[in-house]
Amino acid sequence: MKAIHSFGAGDVRLVTVPDPAPSEGQVLIQITATGICGSDKWMWRHPEPVTWIIGHEVAGRVIALGPGVTRLRVGQRVAVNNVGGCGHCPACRAGDFILCPQWDGSLDINGGYAELVAAWERNCLPVPDDLDDEAACLIFDNFGTPYGALERGEVRHGDDVLITGLGPIGMAAVILAKLRGAYVIAADPLPYRRDFALRLGADAALPPDEQLPDAVRDLTSGLGVRVALECSGKSSAYPLALSSLRVGGTLVSVGEGAQITLRPSDQIIRRTLRIQGSWYSGMHQGRQVMELMRTRQIDPHVLVTHRGSLEELPAIYRTVCEVEQGVMKAVIFPVK
Ligand SMILES: [Zn+2]
Ligand SMILES: [Zn+2]
Repeated sequence: MKAIHSFGAGDVRLVTVPDPAPSEGQVLIQITATGICGSDKWMWRHPEPVTWIIGHEVAGRVIALGPGVTRLRVGQRVAVNNVGGCGHCPACRAGDFILCPQWDGSLDINGGYAELVAAWERNCLPVPDDLDDEAACLIFDNFGTPYGALERGEVRHGDDVLITGLGPIGMAAVILAKLRGAYVIAADPLPYRRDFALRLGADAALPPDEQLPDAVRDLTSGLGVRVALECSGKSSAYPLALSSLRVGGTLVSVGEGAQITLRPSDQIIRRTLRIQGSWYSGMHQGRQVMELMRTRQIDPHVLVTHRGSLEELPAIYRTVCEVEQGVMKAVIFPVK
């Protein structure tokens, strides 16, 4: 099959590799749509060759069944949950692979930048005919991640929410928080992204500078927001998000890569704040996101600014990683 291989920082090329074979409990999927995730930027900058095929936002069609597959059939369209759990603990039985106590990444399903991928049957969500491939590949990560974060922050109608970091995840959080009936303040250094968020329904969009907490208070009758979703992964966003919370509020930590110094007494304890981690999504959350897409309550396509073939992937990947203006989400369609 054709696949993209990384040969070092900024050097990815289309190569031919052996087709993957589905092992026990796996199906072979012909990839029809595959997203380029913000976290794939780490692989773009990785100085050494990446030994696996990058890409973890896969939708496709089942073309072969491995031994022991009972539920899926050949021809079925699926969206793939990329986090691999042990498959038999209580969390995995519930489809919450992110909560599997044995998770170590070794069973994760990567390899989205290719024509074919083998995936655990338990990680495949059947997709109905009235949902297109582009939407399907955005279920578990691009929309599932912020969906889970808003659930864990218990964001409800009438809440005030601050979303820091307006990449595709933060932008999907804006869409989903508005759907929940929240008042949404979006923050990002880039005017392009702030304008994008306003077009998607954000009530205000601000730069994440030291005035942010005061500006947030001005917009919330002096209280601050009840929930902040940190989606930028930038260390500087944490003190701003914590100071923007009202007493008793919750910071949901979503964007990866930050390193922070915390003064618990001032920043957390005496303000009775909660910091809640939230990673990716489970099968149940994916099903709920799919239903929101299928019933047109959310439109995932509004995020997609770049589309192309596997041959065009290296150039689009470069654009996503090195250009900020005019770029939001990219989706690749490996099947011609
Ligand atoms: Zn991702
Ligand atoms: Zn498990």
